Amino acid sequence: MYRVSEIFTSVQGEGTYTGTPSAFVRLHGCSVGCPWCDTAYTWKLPPTEVPFENLLYSEPEAALLALADADTLAAWCDQQPAEHVVITGGEPLEQDLVPLLERIGQFVQVETSGTVFPATDTLSLIDWLTISPKFDMPGGLAVREEILHIASEIKMPVGRERDLEQLQELLNRLPTPHPPIWLQPLSQSPKATRLCIEAAAANGWLVSLQTHKGAGLR
Ligand code: SF4
Repeated sequence: MYRVSEIFTSVQGEGTYTGTPSAFVRLHGCSVGCPWCDTAYTWKLPPTEVPFENLLYSEPEAALLALADADTLAAWCDQQPAEHVVITGGEPLEQDLVPLLERIGQFVQVETSGTVFPATDTLSLIDWLTISPKFDMPGGLAVREEILHIASEIKMPVGRERDLEQLQELLNRLPTPHPPIWLQPLSQSPKATRLCIEAAAANGWLVSLQTHKGAGLR
């Protein structure tokens, strides 16, 4: 059974697939512990356990937890009009995604912190792997460098200069060409956004502005 926090259909607001109508499966739980996490309700608060059907009508960012098997989740995805499914969290790779991925018929994007290296059978079922690396977080988990070698895109949260330095140190160890590099300003603060724009312009990178939040979408 999968531990699920939210299911909803919206638009992907981040990275390469910005603007793509998508069915989102937000799985519960994350051991990374970022202090600025914008989905902390998936791992920080004691969740209220509800039947899976309740997630269909839940308020955004409610600290809910439902258990669902792969067939139930894949059937929900299949009922959505979107041809793009985003499996996110929390940290989705802390759960075994294979049974779910085997059943989903749409294009599947998985968003991960890069702290878990999935098994080969998981990787072969993912169409687009978004790595959003998190360094020096309270959970004490290291970013697995080998997962960065297979990233479809790298989406780096940036709040200060040190984040850019850590990204550059990481990229220096990876083969070129790199996948698309997106800088995502933390909390969309003007200072972080300016930092991202300047670094993206200087390095040929891109800026991810979480457009769904600007539009007031989930
Ligand atoms: S890895 Fe993602 S879900 Fe986990 S704490 Fe950090 S931002 Fe939140």
